[in-house]
Amino acid sequence: MPGVEPREVIIIGSGPAGLTAAIYCARADLHPLVLEGEPSSNSDQPGGQLMLTTEIENFPGFIEGIMGPELMANFRAQAQRFGAEIETVKVSRVDLTERPFKVWVGDPSQSDPTYSAHSIIVATGARSLMLNVPGESELLGHGVSTCATCDGFFFRNQPIAVIGGGDSAVEEALFLAKFASSVTLIHRRGELRASKIMQDRARAHEKISFLWNSVVTEVIGDSRLRGLSLRNTVTGETSTLEVGGCFIAIGHSPNTDLFRGQLNLDDAGYLLTHEGSRTNIAGVFACGDVQDSNYRQAITAAGSGCMAAIDAERYLEGVSV
Ligand code: NAP
Repeated sequence: MPGVEPREVIIIGSGPAGLTAAIYCARADLHPLVLEGEPSSNSDQPGGQLMLTTEIENFPGFIEGIMGPELMANFRAQAQRFGAEIETVKVSRVDLTERPFKVWVGDPSQSDPTYSAHSIIVATGARSLMLNVPGESELLGHGVSTCATCDGFFFRNQPIAVIGGGDSAVEEALFLAKFASSVTLIHRRGELRASKIMQDRARAHEKISFLWNSVVTEVIGDSRLRGLSLRNTVTGETSTLEVGGCFIAIGHSPNTDLFRGQLNLDDAGYLLTHEGSRTNIAGVFACGDVQDSNYRQAITAAGSGCMAAIDAERYLEGVSV
């Protein structure tokens, strides 16, 4: 491949998995290149989902907790300290059919790849799911958000709705209650999925109330969000809730579009791995939420990033590069 010197390892993604892989690869003298993504309002941005979260209380080693963006800044600085190179670019295409593997950023129709590598670690994570109701996409960024940490401040003293019943929704509700005049947590069922400790905190909060068995049927507004149309799933009753902000926290979808048709995926679109971080292509490894629909924790993502780096190192030892 003229003009493109193959790297030993390219890491795609820069959440806890990708940057842990970078720390381990750098310390193993594999000179990793991390393609960290580009800034966006969703979780497929540099640093991944923790950039959109507030206090992380369950990452071991931080007795009082740490803010998500601060934790990721630490991961990044630690990877760079050992020589990991980080580029703020979004991968547009990969070709894993022949070695060295090829990676494009920018125009994917270019014949020459931007980078090539003897091994690839996929750590592209997962992104927020959306409700897919009328008005939602038009008002995203104009009152509708998937990131309380990024946007909560703009809704000071306003009524806010949070959609979802898991830990993310409850965490967002608790965070937003610091700014909002009130927070209504709207859940499609009659009980929360969130962990008990989070539920207890939300139930005890004077600004947080719950709308059970309710789904959003439309996001209402012109240039700015004004309210939500709701339907009760038990009675069928419809109603309108006036809110200045609506935060959607209904789970995530893996960022695997780049690899479809090349790497094996499960029915939900997550990358399939075996024997640690191996994918169906030797030399291509996967770690973090892109291959984990079960645990989805920062600490498990970081652990799997370590595994991927060790697997890549052992793979590279066994092939002449
Ligand atoms: P989740 O656990 O999958 O919960 C998603 C919630 O959204 C569920 O309550 C679900 O309802 C609801 N939902 C899904 N699709 C919907 C739709 N189309 N319309 C309305 N509601 C919908 O996702 P998560 O809350 O993002 O959490 C993901 C993982 O991260 C979990 O393992 C969680 O424990 C972890 N997490 C941990 C923390 C923490 O420890 N601080 C913080 C955030 C997340 P149903 O309940 O009816 O399915």
